[in-house]
Amino acid sequence: MKKALISATAILAVFVFCTCLAPSSASAKTIFATIGTGGITGVYYPTGGAIAKMVNDKRDKYGIRCTVEATAGSVYNVNSVVSGDLEFGLVQADRQYQAINGLEEWKDKPQKDLRAVFSIHPEAVTLVASEASGVKDIRELKGKRVNIGNPGSGQRQNSIDALSAVGIDFEKDIKAEQVKAAEAPGLLQDGRIDALFYTVGHPSGAFKEATAGATKVRFVSVSGPEIEKLIKDKPYYSKTSIPVKLYPTAVNDADVETFGVKATFVTSAKVPEDIVYAITKEVFENFDEFKKLHPAYESLTKEGMLEGMSAEIHPGAMKYYKEAGLIK
Ligand code: GLU
Repeated sequence: MKKALISATAILAVFVFCTCLAPSSASAKTIFATIGTGGITGVYYPTGGAIAKMVNDKRDKYGIRCTVEATAGSVYNVNSVVSGDLEFGLVQADRQYQAINGLEEWKDKPQKDLRAVFSIHPEAVTLVASEASGVKDIRELKGKRVNIGNPGSGQRQNSIDALSAVGIDFEKDIKAEQVKAAEAPGLLQDGRIDALFYTVGHPSGAFKEATAGATKVRFVSVSGPEIEKLIKDKPYYSKTSIPVKLYPTAVNDADVETFGVKATFVTSAKVPEDIVYAITKEVFENFDEFKKLHPAYESLTKEGMLEGMSAEIHPGAMKYYKEAGLIK
């Protein structure tokens, strides 16, 4: 009996010893990390998938299993990352800036634990209107039914900024709807709204849907001296245009001017360095493969992916940037 106990203990000891020494392999504990994205017809959702793919392809090396969650958008993602409900999130650069500096939804509540990892594709503040509404310019939205974006989204504040820049009070001068970006194109097609705003990379499923139905739809310019001033006043906004050839069934025949931001990838100071390092490294070391995963990444460069961040760079990402010589 005693003998059996001793050999059982010995076997157990050998087993424990081996598992402890084993390198991170499939037998080691899997670390789960979730990326908060946006609606499924946006670009954040496939972007989360693209990032997850890069690191999941090396599951044997890192033991990380990355999953993607559809969410309400940027503001929701910042809050969930900071609270620890999500490990990572996709967030508009303007929202990252506001969160870290305690502005807008975070008024007087700077989100000190928010950390930047990298930035990704450009996003355009995009306004479309049904041809029947007659709206050809943002100033003509007065009195119209307009989706400005759901609470928790990045675009809601962009719509408000654009409207107030041209003297439109979203609470008084328009009938403002606040539905999710995935639902708004259907409402436009059904004639239940006249126009919708969505800050997103192009091409996106949302605008394919908005422009592809029986209702004729036009991309509307968001430009002029007031918008120039808005861009000058806010460090995170820049001029951009929407390549309408991406949406051949839209009414437009020339590209449409607007302003935009960059999409960024964020995490929390509490997320361990090795996880952030692994994700950063796999995205950057497989940059050419990553770039092919979505047409909105066409203009991506490694250097550009280090611009547009206002939160401190997470030490795990910084470790990789220094190793790769991207940051001195
Ligand atoms: N920019 C949007 C937001 O922050 C999401 C866009 C997308 O899902 O691609 O809510």
